[in-house]
Amino acid sequence: MTTLLKKLENKERIDDELAYKLYDLDLFTLAKYAHEKRFSLHGKKVYFNANRHINPTNICADTCKFCAFSAHRKNPNPYFMSHEEIMQIVDETIQRGTKEVHIVSAHNKDCSWQWYLEIFKMIKDKYPQLHVKAMTAAEIDFLKRRFGLEYEDTIEKMIEYGVDSMPGGGAEIFDETVRIKICKGKVSSENWLKIHKLWHKKGRQSNATMLFGHIEQKAHRIDHMLRLRRLQDETKGFNAFIPLVWQKDNSFLDVKHQLDSEEILKTIAIARIVLDNINNIKAYWATMGLNLAMVAQEFGANDLDGTIEKESIQSAGGAKSARGTKLDTFIELIKTSNLIPVERDSLYNELKVYA
Ligand code: SF4
Repeated sequence: MTTLLKKLENKERIDDELAYKLYDLDLFTLAKYAHEKRFSLHGKKVYFNANRHINPTNICADTCKFCAFSAHRKNPNPYFMSHEEIMQIVDETIQRGTKEVHIVSAHNKDCSWQWYLEIFKMIKDKYPQLHVKAMTAAEIDFLKRRFGLEYEDTIEKMIEYGVDSMPGGGAEIFDETVRIKICKGKVSSENWLKIHKLWHKKGRQSNATMLFGHIEQKAHRIDHMLRLRRLQDETKGFNAFIPLVWQKDNSFLDVKHQLDSEEILKTIAIARIVLDNINNIKAYWATMGLNLAMVAQEFGANDLDGTIEKESIQSAGGAKSARGTKLDTFIELIKTSNLIPVERDSLYNELKVYA
């Protein structure tokens, strides 16, 4: 423990072996070092963006046990949007000043690959200024399994059709023994990392998530972060790390408890310490609630995500995020916490500082 504390004190990288000891430290020791790192990178700034989540279908060929979003017997409400319906949402949201659409779908085997990809071209043709964040590595892998499209080919098409950046979904927990129990058949950890590497090699940026608080152990979370850290050392393509708190309602995992705030904050602080090469740690309010996401800004996080407007994936699992939140609410909350609200674009360029 002395070596770990010395390294933290000296602001040195925590090597793989020592990283596994971080959960043994108490919350406020972790917070001290995480906040120091956060403060050195971002000062008192808290970032958010004006975005709209769109989930065009929830009909899924995969059967992840943690998932409450896909249409199944606990949540029997299958839906599918036409491109016209998606464009109508985009037309409406742009009137409200939205700068990013975040488009993630389930793996619908009845849709063509063109349905998945051509919507991005329609959006970009009409609104070239709008940032399109779309296609998780899991979706890219699904297109390979369903249509034989090589990862490289899908990535070429994404760029051609106007995708600006990739979301971080589908990472779940990289450990293969956990993965086989929670999302067997979906993109493997190796391929998730490979797809992001291919995207980064094109000079593009992406995010990385981690779904935690279900059946995984703390060591699996550390392993997850270390695998991301290794890839980031190589490509420098990750913008943000987003720890997603698993929501227990409507899932098929036999886990009764929901993580407590202490464990969530510890995980965020540890992420800030381990992922010393990823600039932004997001406290994704849709999975932890706005209040805890605000507290997390003192424990290593520097971002709240965005206004979202309509959230379908986490709210299906019990999160209180279905209707998004207003820009004014973000600004007010951040200011009353004596921090500085900063509206950013999807690549973390500052658009407006609310000093
Ligand atoms: S997490 Fe995604 S891939 Fe898995 S069942 Fe849900 S919608 Fe399908």
